[in-house]
Amino acid sequence: QAKAGGRNRYSFFSSEIESCMRARQHQERLIQEALKHGGFEVFYQPKVEASQKKIIGVEALIRWRDNKGNLISPADFIPLAEKTGQIIPIGRLVLHRACLDAHAWHQAGHRLCVSVNISAVQLKHDRFIADVREVLQETGVNPGLVELEITEGVLATREHGSQDALLALKRLGLRIAIDDFGTGYSNLAYLKMFPVDVLKIDQSFVRGMMVDHSDTVIIEAIIKLSKALGLELVAEGVETREQEQGLIKLGCTVMQGFYYCRPAPHDEVDKQLASGIAGFTTIKAWQ
Ligand code: C2E
Ligand code: MG
Ligand code: MG
Ligand code: MG
Repeated sequence: QAKAGGRNRYSFFSSEIESCMRARQHQERLIQEALKHGGFEVFYQPKVEASQKKIIGVEALIRWRDNKGNLISPADFIPLAEKTGQIIPIGRLVLHRACLDAHAWHQAGHRLCVSVNISAVQLKHDRFIADVREVLQETGVNPGLVELEITEGVLATREHGSQDALLALKRLGLRIAIDDFGTGYSNLAYLKMFPVDVLKIDQSFVRGMMVDHSDTVIIEAIIKLSKALGLELVAEGVETREQEQGLIKLGCTVMQGFYYCRPAPHDEVDKQLASGIAGFTTIKAWQ
């Protein structure tokens, strides 16, 4: 009897694994379709100079619109796309779109830096630098207006490949930001080996700063570090005026978060830029 039960359990698990695999293969096919038929959109979230409420940059954030018109967030498909290698064409698509838009905004007279998230898989891909060079040529954008956001973990692995890749990107004239700074790794030595321009304080610290004093202490330390190393600084995930004021008091001036603007389609950001000032609530309907 125990044996039969065991067998049943086994087949229960195997059918679960099977249906999980089928679901994955299904999603992989859907991603392929989306790549072919323009199912991916690039939203932008402004970075704001807090004292003047001036938009000084935007971050490109990918969205997947499924065939029902619903937006799917990157957290729900980037991990799979990294496993299947589909992140390579997806990443190229985002970079291309972002460079085109950066160029257009620049020509319209806006002084804006456009940041693009780059996954570890992209950075390690042997055609990455060549792809980036190609996109820069195709779009004609000034590379100084384009910033690549890379998470800390990628840089802390002591892999020489990533150091070389970053140096090559710097040589192309791009800016480099460390995303989610403070969450990835405690070895800060990589900061002197890599050509980094910007640190982005992770939103978990900003979220915690009103309730947990240690978050404030960590933010203070990151601000000190960035100043001592001559790096620019962005605080992510600012949702309230209290957080904004707290960050200003600590010496942080550039911020990003729902308090100012949610990620929004290009045209919505255009309207924000035309008004010259970060809009607080006007584009909040978008996510
Ligand atoms: P990230 O680069 O750290 O981006 C910040 C995320 O926080 C975005 O989520 C943004 O919508 C959200 N956010 C911004 N302000 C606030 C706020 O005030 N409160 C809260 N709660 N959230 C805020 P999103 O767009 O869902 O992206 C999640 C992550 O997916 C990104 O984290 C990034 O790591 C990745 N990602 C997004 N687009 C791309 C892409 O084109 N390529 C790659 N490789 N990764 C991407
Ligand atoms: Mg980012
Ligand atoms: Mg981040
Ligand atoms: Mg993140």
